[in-house]
Amino acid sequence: MNLVQEVEHYCQVRGLRLTSGRLQLLQLLMHYSGKAMTAYGLLEQWQQQHPSVKPATVYRALDFFLQHGIIHRLNSVNGFVLCQHLGCRHSAQLFICQQCLKVEEFKDDDIAKRLQQAATGHGFRLQSQNIELNGVCHSCQQKT
Ligand SMILES: [Zn+2]
Ligand SMILES: [Zn+2]
Repeated sequence: MNLVQEVEHYCQVRGLRLTSGRLQLLQLLMHYSGKAMTAYGLLEQWQQQHPSVKPATVYRALDFFLQHGIIHRLNSVNGFVLCQHLGCRHSAQLFICQQCLKVEEFKDDDIAKRLQQAATGHGFRLQSQNIELNGVCHSCQQKT
């Protein structure tokens, strides 16, 4: 099963509608899988195949994917990336390379648990955990 099929299945099980527009954006995200893409960058790529696509279409589709844990928003680089563990929206830790914008996602339940405990200790009701770790990836380190 490739990633698009996986997302299709994921949506089917949850009764979510993957419109043709959403599917096109999904294929774009998959093409750049593992790399942070800005909404504008996605729009530009999308318009190369479908010139009539409007920015609002991109934002709406991105919102849909965000809402359902299919992509992650990366505030530190103003980008989006396909989730590498579909539906893991409750806790995600992401390494973001500042040079090539490669994103690597890892899942450490201990970290998530510690943060949850800390939040509870502060009387803070945690809604999501999206931890962005910025630095330089292994292959970019070789180039410098
Ligand atoms: Zn994820
Ligand atoms: Zn890099």
